[in-house]
Amino acid sequence: MTAAESSCCKAVFSGWRNYPCGRKGKLAEDGKFYCGVHSPDAVQKRQAKRDASYAALRTKWEAEARHRRFAAAAEAAIREIAAGHNDPHGLAAKTLAILGESKP
Ligand SMILES: [Zn+2]
Repeated sequence: MTAAESSCCKAVFSGWRNYPCGRKGKLAEDGKFYCGVHSPDAVQKRQAKRDASYAALRTKWEAEARHRRFAAAAEAAIREIAAGHNDPHGLAAKTLAILGESKP
């Protein structure tokens, strides 16, 4: 086996060109050699870690967006009450409906 045959089969992008990875291929999968960085398992683990990170960010952003909607709806309800609104139950139900909730 030559060095070229046992080197990593992946290419890396640098300087507006693709180059062979250059690392030694340690892991053989599907008849090809991969380095520790480009092995399908390592790529899958990094992707799963990235997906978990983005899911956490998305959960945080959705909570923040919900809070902003709640603050705006609550401010509008308070302003209606201050202006003389006389049906707090109906106003509360309308405000919760804006937030996508049917019951308190
Ligand atoms: Zn590689």
